Amino acid sequence: MKSIRKVAILGAGTMGARIAAHFANAGVASYLFDIVPPDADVPARNKIAAAGLEAARKSKPAAFMDASLARLVTVGNFEDDLKKLADVDWIIEAVVENLQLKRELLKKVEAVRKPGTIITTNTSGLPVGKIAEGFAEDFRRSWFGTHFFNPPRYMRLLELIPTPATDRAAIDAIAHFCDVRLGKGVVFAKDTPNFIGNRIGTFSVLNVMRLMQEMDLTIEEVDALTGQAVGWPRSATFRTIDLVGLDILGHVVVNMTQNVHDERSDLKLPDFFRQMLEHNWLGDKTKGGFYKKSGGRASSPAEPAKEDERLALDWKTLEYHPRQKPKFPALDMAKNVEDTGARIRMLLGLDGSGPKKGDKASQFLWPALTDLWTYSANRIPEISDSIVEIDRAMRLGFNWELGPFELWDAAGVETTVERMKKEGRPISTNVEKLLASGKKSWYTDNPKTASGRAYWDLKTGNHEPVQVPAGVWSVGVAKKSNGVVKKNSGASLLDLGDGVACIEFHSKMNSLGADIIQLMAQTMKLGGPGDNFEAFVITNDAPNFSVGANLMLLLMSVQEEEWDDVDLAIRTFQNANQAIKFSPKPVVVAPFGLTLGGGCEVSLHAAARQPHAELYIGQVEVGVGLLPGAGGCKEMLLRAIDSAESIRPGGRGESVEMMEAMKKIFEIIATGKVATSAHEARDLGFLSDSDHITMNRERVLSDAKARALELVRAGYRPPVPRTDLPAPGENILAALKMGVRLMQQGGYVSEHEVKIATKIAEVLCGGNVSPGTPVSEQYILDLEREAFKSLCGEKKTQERIQYTLKTGKTLRN
Ligand code: NAD
Repeated sequence: MKSIRKVAILGAGTMGARIAAHFANAGVASYLFDIVPPDADVPARNKIAAAGLEAARKSKPAAFMDASLARLVTVGNFEDDLKKLADVDWIIEAVVENLQLKRELLKKVEAVRKPGTIITTNTSGLPVGKIAEGFAEDFRRSWFGTHFFNPPRYMRLLELIPTPATDRAAIDAIAHFCDVRLGKGVVFAKDTPNFIGNRIGTFSVLNVMRLMQEMDLTIEEVDALTGQAVGWPRSATFRTIDLVGLDILGHVVVNMTQNVHDERSDLKLPDFFRQMLEHNWLGDKTKGGFYKKSGGRASSPAEPAKEDERLALDWKTLEYHPRQKPKFPALDMAKNVEDTGARIRMLLGLDGSGPKKGDKASQFLWPALTDLWTYSANRIPEISDSIVEIDRAMRLGFNWELGPFELWDAAGVETTVERMKKEGRPISTNVEKLLASGKKSWYTDNPKTASGRAYWDLKTGNHEPVQVPAGVWSVGVAKKSNGVVKKNSGASLLDLGDGVACIEFHSKMNSLGADIIQLMAQTMKLGGPGDNFEAFVITNDAPNFSVGANLMLLLMSVQEEEWDDVDLAIRTFQNANQAIKFSPKPVVVAPFGLTLGGGCEVSLHAAARQPHAELYIGQVEVGVGLLPGAGGCKEMLLRAIDSAESIRPGGRGESVEMMEAMKKIFEIIATGKVATSAHEARDLGFLSDSDHITMNRERVLSDAKARALELVRAGYRPPVPRTDLPAPGENILAALKMGVRLMQQGGYVSEHEVKIATKIAEVLCGGNVSPGTPVSEQYILDLEREAFKSLCGEKKTQERIQYTLKTGKTLRN
């Protein structure tokens, strides 16, 4: 398969520069070229590309996983640098959405491109084949669409759009590269206007706007109805448009209205939207769209939040007003239903209660969703051969929890179609075919396939396995196919095959309570359920690995002054982490997303880590007035000692290197620093150099299992408990304390924060002992536990915990 070592991106705008950044995240060097500004003198000829790169560097959310990765991007221009394209493996065109301009540039590229170099377009929806019409055969064989979504680092969808002339090997090489190296969810789309995601997404948004006008709803009401209630992103309809840009949506809609003629061509961009475009109210990039910040002054220092008040647009008058909280009793009730399917059934009155009179929520959602289902079903085989691509595109490109067909299954295909028929709504022939075959759902479980499920295939008229590339796997699928060995309310132990077991957390937000800790300890224990396995993986399928220890349980014990219980809880957690560390069988932790507090501590104790690139890991205990108490301080201290020792062997607690290493870990813990990617986590010491990063979230489990087996094959031997750690001792302790005092004098930290930081410093230094005094791991653990308990007794710490539990935010008291 063709390997991709270097790429070139033509066009350094919003997309081009961020695509280059994402290649850098994957460790791939790129050229980033753009036009020469008119009348530019020599040094300024790369100005536009350089500005694009600078914008990517500063973009929020961050386009680069680590600021230093920008070094992998080399800027240039279309006039002086095109010859450099001869030494790249893949060229991506990402200039303005204009067929003629794209063709003009590509003609120049054709003249310098080496035969066989893959060349693709990032067009949002122009006909891919037409862009390269009339080009030489070798060019057309290597030509197809690679449609990244914005922002490319975070949006998982990549649509691949082959033309009839495209060489299959070129497509396969890029699909594999983008899946494994860039972490993309690849979806094959046909060369039809706006491909899959934007075709369905645009229909849905236009239909939602139509219904809003017909039902006389407000922007805020529609956002309340089209957000988390139906498993769509919190930003719902209009906040999403503000984020994406009204102009971007405008382009996509124009492309659709000009080139698509289907049964819903009645849908148009509403007048209010056109007027907003005329006013240049494009959303966040122009500081105003459907919402904007009031920018007003705070009415008093006690009310600073007012300054940030978000105003919402009245689409009828185009005037802004303070955002109103919509009132939908049905939505309030539905909020308590966790399962999206059950919630949808309740909202649509399909849970047996029937449609309720005067229920505006269901009056809006019923047509919004049934129209979406019918429109999607009618698009097969026009835009894709199966329902799977449509569902995947909407999940990965629009962050929908369920794609249209999955949502339809959740609501119940048979009952919804029955009601649609009764109301005389149009019914797609494809759903008629499904029901006529006697099947009742688009998907069924199929534990024998790698994806764990089968989909209704319109070609064969049967449920066929959903195919996934080798290595794409999930805990849920493994559970279905291999079964669960042991389970309690917070965690399960399951068989991954080949002698590897997985400990899965499944508590709310994966907060770590006694049940999870117990299952980890039982698994590691001789004679326990882990005996039949050779290695372990700790990971799960949730959006976040773990938000940390269960604070509610801790607070209850603290408030009841059950100090023995608190002591026992910390001791048990410490012991479980030590058992993971010293297990004769390797334990690989595969963290991803938020991996905070106790979650981070579990990860630090593993033999190896196999993180997802999007890893937000940190020890944030200070935020709730505590310190890492389950070995987190101890593990960071070990890393500091070992790194100082590697630079200057035999330093025994007093070297400059030791001081530097101690300052670094102290700052990380005392400020509750959280890495914003796995790259950064490595810099902070949460990952070691031998830990490999997985770019694709769907491959984390397979990669972690492979890593565990690699350790087994290499004859894994656990570490030996350390008993002669050179304690940093009194001198470094004094220096750290001095730093804290200076922060206090500068007004940066409160008295309580001084107390917390001092405790952290004392634990990390092994107490006020002579530098180099030999101490054991257990000694540091005992210091951690004592310090943790003493902070639990502080009123201000309890206030912090309560505040976080109530608001999800941190209190600085
Ligand atoms: P952009 O306007 O931010 O950037 C386009 C770049 O093209 C600019 O840097 C500009 O200098 C350059 N350019 C201008 N005139 C040119 C010319 N005559 N010849 C060559 N280059 C010229 O646009 P963008 O949002 O980055 O979009 C780039 C492509 O990606 C488009 O095809 C767009 O449809 C597609 N796309 C955009 C998004 C998005 O959300 N912005 C998402 C997916 C795909």
